[in-house]
Amino acid sequence: MKLKQLKLTHFRNYEQVTLNFHDEVNVLIGLNAQGKTNLLEAIYCLALAKSHRATQDKELIQWQSDFALIEGELEYRYGVMPLSLQISSKGKKAKANHLEQSKLTQYVGHMNVVLFAPEDLNLVKGSPQVRRRFIDIEIGQISAVYLNDLSNYQRILKQKNHYLKQLKLNATSDRTMLEVLNQQFADYAVKLTLRRQQFINQLEEKAIAIHNGITKGAEALAVHYESSLEISDNMVEDTYAKLSSVMEREIDRMTSLYGPHRDDLTFSINDIDVQTYGSQGQQRTTALSLKLAEIELINEEVGEYPILLLDDVLSELDDSRQTHLLTTIQHKVQTFVTTTSVDGIEHETIKEAKLFFVDQGS
Ligand code: ATP
Ligand code: MG
Repeated sequence: MKLKQLKLTHFRNYEQVTLNFHDEVNVLIGLNAQGKTNLLEAIYCLALAKSHRATQDKELIQWQSDFALIEGELEYRYGVMPLSLQISSKGKKAKANHLEQSKLTQYVGHMNVVLFAPEDLNLVKGSPQVRRRFIDIEIGQISAVYLNDLSNYQRILKQKNHYLKQLKLNATSDRTMLEVLNQQFADYAVKLTLRRQQFINQLEEKAIAIHNGITKGAEALAVHYESSLEISDNMVEDTYAKLSSVMEREIDRMTSLYGPHRDDLTFSINDIDVQTYGSQGQQRTTALSLKLAEIELINEEVGEYPILLLDDVLSELDDSRQTHLLTTIQHKVQTFVTTTSVDGIEHETIKEAKLFFVDQGS
């Protein structure tokens, strides 16, 4: 899929701008703090109805304005689809084909993006939360069912934690409600776990091949899903039993100790744990392999390549990894690259690109 056009109104430091993009590579060049990442962020928001970096939606609205509007024209295999996302203090309104989507979980998935930013190099070394976010965002893009299950799970988790607190503080002594919540919790926990396991198996297969290519066969990558739940034939019952067995401890700690909100991923190279023993280069190659695997996986699931957003990441990769990345995407994946200068980028892909000079929000 390709983003043909993007129109921003009161988004971050963009008052109003309309941009027409190249089908292959678009390079955003500018000094620091001019609005390069803001542009990628707008594209990301158009796809996922949320920002990859803002903690609150209102940060996206230009100062002194009361709304921000992102509009795009997406070319996909069945034609052109107009998409728009409006952000205001009242919330978000998303439209696909000019039709307002009643739920954001329904909107997400029309446009697929893969973002690769310097912080993604932390995917391996960072906290488990970073990896869970990665999993949830990627599956969410290809499965509305997963997004829906995830949002139900998170709602029940919140209710459950609240109720655990009430029990601990003796605001109530009735455990029936907790049992009911645990039943629903077990249901969704199993759904999430099974879908994650399936996704990670698919992703691992692709990441192994890519990693093998980058390291010229010298390093064998493996990805493990560290799931809280055990896979079994009676998973819902087993999970409920486990939840019952930790109930007293959960009340005492006032939090849910068991479930997919505690899951993690681990990586190994030649059977050695990358998080603990991997060099910085190995961690980067692992992160890069995962991102490239994600591109292939979306193509397989959706039938089209996603749009790739590379924020300041080329300069962080050495020549051979840069070349590997750029040759993989060449002529297949519409790409947006930010950089403060084109000097260090020699690859032919970049030479055929459309250049945008970004200067103070224009
Ligand atoms: P770098 O090369 O340092 O990464 P960049 O070009 O990617 O820079 P951005 O993060 O895109 O920079 O833009 C930052 C600019 O946007 C800052 O000058 C900041 O003040 C401005 N900005 C951020 N949010 C808003 C907002 N809500 N309204 C107006 N301006 C904003
Ligand atoms: Mg930036």
